[in-house]
Amino acid sequence: MAADLPAFWAEFARLSPRLRAPDPAPDAIAAVGALVDRLGDLDWEIGPDDDGDLYFAISPRGRRELAAAARAVIAAAPSLPGWRWRATLPVKAWDGTLDWDVGPGPTHLDTRRWTATLEPDTDGDLVIVTVAGAELAALTPPLAAAAARTAVLSWIGEETFLARVAHVRVAAGGARDDGVTLPDLRARLAAPADTGEDRFVACLLGLALGDALGARHEGGLVARGLWALLGIGRPGVLRWTDDTAMALGLARSLATRRGLDADHLAATWARDARWSRGYGPGALAVLRRVRRGEPWATASRAVFPDGSYGNGAAMRAAPLGLWFHDDAAALDAGAALAASITHAHPLGLEGGVLMARATAAALAGPLDLARLRAGCREPAFRDRLAVAADLTLDVAEVRRRLGSGIAATDSVPTALHLARRFDAFEPMLEFAVALRGDVDTIAAMAGALIGARHGTAVLPKAALRRLEARADLEAAARALFAARPTPTPARPDPA
Ligand SMILES: [Mg+2]
Repeated sequence: MAADLPAFWAEFARLSPRLRAPDPAPDAIAAVGALVDRLGDLDWEIGPDDDGDLYFAISPRGRRELAAAARAVIAAAPSLPGWRWRATLPVKAWDGTLDWDVGPGPTHLDTRRWTATLEPDTDGDLVIVTVAGAELAALTPPLAAAAARTAVLSWIGEETFLARVAHVRVAAGGARDDGVTLPDLRARLAAPADTGEDRFVACLLGLALGDALGARHEGGLVARGLWALLGIGRPGVLRWTDDTAMALGLARSLATRRGLDADHLAATWARDARWSRGYGPGALAVLRRVRRGEPWATASRAVFPDGSYGNGAAMRAAPLGLWFHDDAAALDAGAALAASITHAHPLGLEGGVLMARATAAALAGPLDLARLRAGCREPAFRDRLAVAADLTLDVAEVRRRLGSGIAATDSVPTALHLARRFDAFEPMLEFAVALRGDVDTIAAMAGALIGARHGTAVLPKAALRRLEARADLEAAARALFAARPTPTPARPDPA
């Protein structure tokens, strides 16, 4: 076919002045039809483009096997003033009705009331669309199949159709109530396929961004000055702290061991621990003992006879929520064990479990603070989560009633409040900075939850480009996603 293309386009260029509105010449239109017929089984269309030009589209009519042939024709097109070329039909406004004047059965089909159910094809991101509509049952099977296909193609546009749809089928048994209406199908399919991997990535990136951007605002003047000094490492790089270092180690350990292996995790944390990341002195002492070969349980008891009630277990807990997102009992047991390596105090431990549960919940939908509260044992968390449900609190009220300190009770409910309140990262960060206190950990926890819920689209692009070891964080999140034994979480409701 390639050899015909120069001749095809030379002939089209010769005809093109006579194809323009208001009076395209019928013989020129017929000649274009004959030219396209010689290219093979492709369709074509001429119409007005947005800015007064005309478009000439060569269309495979949704047949994936012909898409490359259509693109080859368009790739050979010359530049002609006033013309645009397309290898698919553009999305057009239409009223949702088809005049279907072929064969027996109804001739006027109102596709706006039809519904579609989607299921994944065996092969990658493609979906099989099953269409149900009252009028389809009255058509012969081949006509019903053609009508369903035409309706889907018209609603979603050919570009999306080729990118996302493997097959269109007609539902056996006629109309059904489930599924999306065809007018909603475009929005459903236009978004990239959400396998959940993007939200795993966004959870770790959101955590690291909150940590790195919050660390510059943490604590008093001395701490800020010290952090500015340490953070200068490489110019322009957003350097993160212990929160991210431990969450990254946890994600890697979970993926490598395909589950929680406390000894492996403690050894991973001990290997990676650096004073300059801003570890709490107690946690650092535990990890140094582990690095010297002491079992983590005795090291932890030696440093913290009563356990730590700080937020150190919660700040790193998000990967546990990702890994155990669909197994509540395993999540609770895993989060408690991971917490106890450095934070065995009941409040520190429950903070870690609560943050892991919240991360799992964020993958599935909006955070239900009442439900998370109901799962808490410690009254301090229950009291604060009752307050956290009020999304109208101002900065001073959040600081006073929820807290912004390093105790788990003073920071985990605050982070949950912020994640419930803000859909995007930047307004959350602004609020967390205004709270002062343990800004990096509060922003890290809220950032992880916002990422898990909404994906990478809501993270600030400019800051991401400057984030330290971003590629390592993404790789760890992808490895965690790939290693998980459980099915993909469903995309959260847009509510
Ligand atoms: Mg920190």
